[in-house]
Amino acid sequence: MNICVALGGNPNAGKTTLFNALTGSRQHVGNYPGVTVDRKEGRYVQNGHDIHIVDLPGTYSLTAYSVEEVVARDFLVNECPRVTINIVDASNLERNLYLTIQLLELGIPICVALNMIDVARSRGIEIDHQKLSRLLGVPVVPIMARSGFGKQALMAAVERVAQQPLPQPLRVSYGRDLETTIQSMEQVITKHGFLTDLYPARWIALKYLENDAQILEKGRATEARIADQLVAETQKVGAHIEETLETYPEAMIADHRYGFISSMLKQGIVKERFDKNRLFLSDRIDKVLVNRFAGPLIMFLVLFGLYQLVFTYSEVPVGWCETVFEWLSDVVSTQMPDGLLKSLIVSGVIDGVGGVLGFVPLIMFMFLGIAVLEDSGYLARVAFMLDRIFQIFGLHGSSVMAYIVSGGIAGGCAVPGVMATRTLRSPKERIATLLTAPFMNCGAKLPVFALLIAAFFPNSQARMMFLITLISWSGALLAAKFLRLTVVKGPSTPFVMELPPYRLPTFRGLMIHTWERTWQYVKKAGTVILGISILLWAAMTFPRLPAAQVAQYAADRDHMVAQASPAITDELARWTGDTPLSAGAARLKRELTASRGRQSAAALRYSLAGRIGGGLEVVSRWAGFDWRTNIALLGGFAAKEVIVSTLGTAYSLGAANDDDAQASIASRLTAEPGWRVLTAWSMIVFVMFYAPCFVTIVSIVRESSWRWGLFSVIFNTSLAFCVSVGIYQVGSLLGY
Ligand code: GDP
Ligand code: MG
Repeated sequence: MNICVALGGNPNAGKTTLFNALTGSRQHVGNYPGVTVDRKEGRYVQNGHDIHIVDLPGTYSLTAYSVEEVVARDFLVNECPRVTINIVDASNLERNLYLTIQLLELGIPICVALNMIDVARSRGIEIDHQKLSRLLGVPVVPIMARSGFGKQALMAAVERVAQQPLPQPLRVSYGRDLETTIQSMEQVITKHGFLTDLYPARWIALKYLENDAQILEKGRATEARIADQLVAETQKVGAHIEETLETYPEAMIADHRYGFISSMLKQGIVKERFDKNRLFLSDRIDKVLVNRFAGPLIMFLVLFGLYQLVFTYSEVPVGWCETVFEWLSDVVSTQMPDGLLKSLIVSGVIDGVGGVLGFVPLIMFMFLGIAVLEDSGYLARVAFMLDRIFQIFGLHGSSVMAYIVSGGIAGGCAVPGVMATRTLRSPKERIATLLTAPFMNCGAKLPVFALLIAAFFPNSQARMMFLITLISWSGALLAAKFLRLTVVKGPSTPFVMELPPYRLPTFRGLMIHTWERTWQYVKKAGTVILGISILLWAAMTFPRLPAAQVAQYAADRDHMVAQASPAITDELARWTGDTPLSAGAARLKRELTASRGRQSAAALRYSLAGRIGGGLEVVSRWAGFDWRTNIALLGGFAAKEVIVSTLGTAYSLGAANDDDAQASIASRLTAEPGWRVLTAWSMIVFVMFYAPCFVTIVSIVRESSWRWGLFSVIFNTSLAFCVSVGIYQVGSLLGY
């Protein structure tokens, strides 16, 4: 075997010493072309293998800040050493690993030499190198360069690495703001093969964000149009971060890299025998907040407090919104002549979109709460703490982030959640995560739950929401375990996650983050949901009841009026609604509205949607859903937001009388004889677990394959149905 091995590390990590120990007299010094940086090369012979070793200049990073860094990086990229030995000062591990992370991000094969263990030991630092090796995914060999201890073991590890295939570049996750940009830049870079012959796509994107002079120049020289596009994206996210977090991308990237390291080191890799009182503030806070015992308890209280706050404070503005929409539909109902147009505007547009927009204050409060947790850095700690539980279910610490983004705390979206699974290194854990992340309670399911809770559990709203969240997590975890035991079987991989330092969220940052996410929701209601609402309205209106039947209902009513005495019909005709009616007139009025209700119910049943919903009733009856609920659930396939609005439309179209049609959806449901607490439970669980919405399915397909997309539809819907049937049937048996 004849291979080239590079030797890289921070200045003073002991590179030269190791180089000398390995090569002895078989070395010579040259120059890197064009720069006055020494290039030392030498030979190491082991078991008849001839290994060519190059001592790189010492660097702290691989961004082009100095000549040394450019030289080291160019050597690694252009001359492709088969293995790079990364020499690390064990007495200063955290700082030294910063370079290690960047080597891993560059996707080159490395082997870590943990040097100066004598110094570390004398300072009372003990390092679990096996665990470190597991977490980094590369060999870590303890050595003492000065005495030559460990050099055979190191070179044996180098040979092992040389025989393995090239590794995948490490993907550190850089927080939601940057991550979105990085991923979109990655796509552009991959699509155009922009510099990808030299560097991994993600790495190029990072260098653009880090403002790396050399890469910027190379980029411009290669394809100016794409370079400009990448620079524009960089500037955009830069401005955004400046505004929201008052920092800049380079600093954020460094923060997350250090966060990655610190979360690794927090897992008992470094044992310090003497407390040297050098804990930074973040570390000190973490002593309490991620404490083994206090941590989970605090987390539980924080999350529960969040629900309490959101539901208490949003009650009033949600009430205002409902009033506005009720008033609007009132005005339109009385001002417009009866007919298709009125039905479209009242049932299709106002009820549909209003049902969604009515929850904007609640969603806004929830987003605000999440922004506080996220911007302060606490959310990452939540993921860190939940990792231990996740391992039990065959998932990974990074899955937590995907869950939370999907709405694990309530009010997220499965689409970015599915994309967040990209940080998972093991493909099997990744599939299990992206299939179960849609079980979380996204911002679109939230209104459905809020509605059912308001209707059936009015006195325990926050508690119910918390319970629902627990159910969805348990469901997701159990489903993941099931998947990991069956279709995606395999061992679990160790956990490393970013723990960026705590920071005090800024008011401005919170407002912007809250507003952005709320606005996305409103925009969706204004466009997609409006479109789907109108389509569903059409499906619920056409084909229209045959004229003969309409005439029959009208004739019935004429008959009722004819039967009544002239005094009563006269009283009813002159009635303005201010004075109480006489008993006879009230009865006639009731009968007339009941007849109108029967007619609109028959019309809905006759429509396309009614027929489909009715056809499904055979099956859905088991879970307690009638045909109107079926229509809403079918609409939910397109977008979950539609469920509430469709329920609204279905029950207002089929409402038994005018007063009911104007009551809020919640009170309409409670008044419905087919609806009881058990039905609400069955529906909550079904909505929680059934097929992801269309956009999520598309993302799943994009992130994996169409098979998994199809699988998620079938698996989730069957699961949801079984659980709902179970709840409804057992509950009915027990007499609820
Ligand atoms: P470079 O800058 O990475 O080339 O580092 P050097 O090889 O010049 O080493 C820096 C200092 O660390 C020198 O004084 C070495 O003698 C010392 N050194 C290197 N390896 C060890 C070791 O394993 N133990 C101890 N105690 N000192 C070491
Ligand atoms: Mg040196």
